[in-house]
Amino acid sequence: MITFNSIAGVQVTYDRDHARDYGSRGRPLREGQGGPVTPEFWSALCAWMDDLSATCPWGRPELLVTGGIHGPGVDPENRHTQGRAIDIDSLWWHGREPLVTRYAGGRQAALYCAVEATLHLRFGTVLGRTYNASHVDHWHVDDGHPVGWRGGRSHVAFLQAALNACYDRQLDVDGRLGPRTRGAAADALRSLLVEPGELSAGWVPLLRGIAVRGFERAG
Ligand SMILES: [Zn+2]
Repeated sequence: MITFNSIAGVQVTYDRDHARDYGSRGRPLREGQGGPVTPEFWSALCAWMDDLSATCPWGRPELLVTGGIHGPGVDPENRHTQGRAIDIDSLWWHGREPLVTRYAGGRQAALYCAVEATLHLRFGTVLGRTYNASHVDHWHVDDGHPVGWRGGRSHVAFLQAALNACYDRQLDVDGRLGPRTRGAAADALRSLLVEPGELSAGWVPLLRGIAVRGFERAG
C-alpha cells in the first residue's frame, strides 16, 4: 500500500475540516490522510495526472484538493475503505481561476467536462455533478470497475452534459440513452473522423475529443 502527499508532482491538500474551508486551497495532508492506496490505484492516479497535464493546454496543475482518500470501515461497496478511491474537490493551476467542482456548472462547464473525461479514461467509476446531487461538490473516483463504457447513469449523464458543453448540443441530462443522445454522440464521433458504431467502441475516442475540446473552450 502507498501513502502520498503529491500525485505526479502535484501537491495534494485537504479542505474538509470545516464547511467554510471547502473551495479553498486546503491544508497539507496529515499523517494517515494521504492513503494508503493500492499500488494499482496509485499507478492509475499518476497516469491520470500525466494524461491531464499533457492534454491541458496550460499544463500540470499546481494543486489537487481532496475531500478524502482512505476511509474507515469494512463496507465492500465503499472503495475508500479498500484504498481504491479518492474524492476530488478542486484543481488549481498557477495564475488561473481554480476549478472548484461545486461552482463549475455554468461558465466552467466545458472545463469540468474536459477534466472528467480524462478521469473516465483512467478509472472505471467516476461520479460527479451530472450523476446526482450528493456529487455536486466533488468527483468520487475509484477503480471498482474496469475502464470502459457501461451505459449506466454515471456514463450517460456525463456524456449528455459533455456533448452540451463541448459540442453545442441541447440534450436533457437525464442519464437515459435515447435516440437524441445516440445521434449527438455519433455526430461527435464523425467530427473526430471515427466511424460511429457501438458506444463501447466510441467511448474512448469520445472522451479524448471531449477533453481536447473542453480545454480549448476553457482556454
Ligand atoms: Zn468518494
